[in-house]
Amino acid sequence: MAGPHALSGRCHCGDIAVSVQLSGAAERYSPRACDCDFCRLHGASYLSDPKGQLRFTVQPGAALNRYRQGAEEADMLLCGRCGVLMGACYERDDKCYGVVNTAILPPVFAAPQPVSPKRLSADEKTRRWMLLWFPDVVIER
Ligand SMILES: [Zn+2]
Repeated sequence: MAGPHALSGRCHCGDIAVSVQLSGAAERYSPRACDCDFCRLHGASYLSDPKGQLRFTVQPGAALNRYRQGAEEADMLLCGRCGVLMGACYERDDKCYGVVNTAILPPVFAAPQPVSPKRLSADEKTRRWMLLWFPDVVIER
């Protein structure tokens, strides 16, 4: 994926690559630092763009593991070999909405903003994901 606002990254072992296409300059995006236990343990903060594109590429023989915490409806995506948290995805109506963990991208973003989605109801959460997350996430093998 190339373009004026393209970024790429990978997990620690290189089994999983990510490419991101943003609709604006990366410096204008403030990643969201979720305050749930899982995300704090990973030190993750997330980037999304409803007008952008997100693609994960899984090397042959590699695994992109999914972990679903509690009653969440989204899957956390982790490299099956080195365990790096790549992002999350939410599947609905044959579409995959997603976010990427900014820790795997170059440090070009504005300061992260703390967010507390755990205060939202399940319904509010999924509606928010469909509005804010990358639509049409591709997981390429
Ligand atoms: Zn890895």
